Amino acid sequence: MFVDKVKIRIKAGSGGNGAVAFRREKYVAAGGPDGGDGGRGGNIVFVADTNLSTLVDFKYKRRFFAENGANGAAKKMSGKNAPDLVIRVPKGTVVREAQSGRVMADLSSDEPVVVARGGKGGWGNSHFATPTRQCPRFSKPGLPGEEYEVELELKLLADVGLVGFPNVGKSTLLSVVSAAKPEIANYHFTTLSPVLGVVKVDEGKSFVMADIPGLIEGASEGVGLGHAFLRHVERCRLIVHVVDVSGSEGRDPIEDFRTINAELANFNSELASRPQIIAANKCDLAAPEQLEAFRAFARESGYPLYEICAPIGEGIQPLIYAVSQKLDTLPPIRQFEIEHVPMSERERLAKNQFEIHVEDGVYIVEADWLMPALGMVDMDDYESLQYFQRVLRSSGVIDKLEEMGIQEGDTVSILNFEFEYIR
Ligand code: GDP
Ligand code: MG
Repeated sequence: MFVDKVKIRIKAGSGGNGAVAFRREKYVAAGGPDGGDGGRGGNIVFVADTNLSTLVDFKYKRRFFAENGANGAAKKMSGKNAPDLVIRVPKGTVVREAQSGRVMADLSSDEPVVVARGGKGGWGNSHFATPTRQCPRFSKPGLPGEEYEVELELKLLADVGLVGFPNVGKSTLLSVVSAAKPEIANYHFTTLSPVLGVVKVDEGKSFVMADIPGLIEGASEGVGLGHAFLRHVERCRLIVHVVDVSGSEGRDPIEDFRTINAELANFNSELASRPQIIAANKCDLAAPEQLEAFRAFARESGYPLYEICAPIGEGIQPLIYAVSQKLDTLPPIRQFEIEHVPMSERERLAKNQFEIHVEDGVYIVEADWLMPALGMVDMDDYESLQYFQRVLRSSGVIDKLEEMGIQEGDTVSILNFEFEYIR
């Protein structure tokens, strides 16, 4: 079964909790705090796998939860970080947040992408000992892992997409120019899934061509089969529009051509302006006046026209060279830009809201929006801390602390993480 769109739920692991523990040594009445930190929760990572060609596996398994980090333990033992949960998808899969539709990842390259981050582990009580508080009886819980409902959509990576009515000879064409083995049969909708083939042009030069299942009238409104496959044309740099120039099924090739283009435009107006080359197939069956009429049409509308008879390979070479030459002038295959969470005006205002109060000389900052930023901070990493500091400064937290009279060496607690204030 070919499946190219599914919805799944992913949840990164939460961080493990920090431990509350005290050293126990022989002959020492009360040792210092030595509770270790919780481990980091596992990330959800997507990887493109060239051996996969459909999203069918996700029809059966729809929930992917990474493990939580382990809790910290006594003797400053940190909890284990949980392993990442790797989800393999076909190359060209686009991951969107279901709710907002924003693009979270485009698995067009071999680079793994972290889509949901595991939560940071909580600090054990050993972090919270200060000269004035030698017996901290608290530790911090781990931060929750990110959780999303995501939509996976396979958008094939092909340079050229073959489009046209059913039965015009698209599969036949692909089978003669590449090693691909698409199904060829004399009835409509034989091609139930897109097929990719590599077309060799010259030594060391090739391009990828996709046989896109037949588009039919009304396809862009979801009537019939075609609609589901239009998305696979979206990334194609060039369209080879195949027509049955002989009208062997009783239709007019010029009308066919217009109908298909209207379908493409209806689905995505940008598709209508994608460069097209026409392959007029079934020339062997066409009467000379049919050919003449179609040539005149192509001339008037300005589309390059190649007349072919696909099964016997007639006219194929000039078509392949024309395609290759045109591709040389076109931009590379489109990748979808990752869209970060769009922030509404209200959220932006709320972002800068925080409260600070002082308890036992500790400046306690409360600001929920800081949670994700903090979750990403690696306390042992200088750059990472710098980043967090920038967030604090740009949001006005540091200004406020200074206004409140904070001094060098004072403790700041943000979402239960403690820092020493350094100017
Ligand atoms: P698709 O639905 O567009 O993929 O069309 P197919 O490639 O499956 O071809 C449909 C039918 O048309 C098959 O029976 C082919 O053998 C036949 N066919 C394809 N190209 C030509 C051609 O140039 N001339 C003739 N006479 N038949 C063709
Ligand atoms: Mg076909």
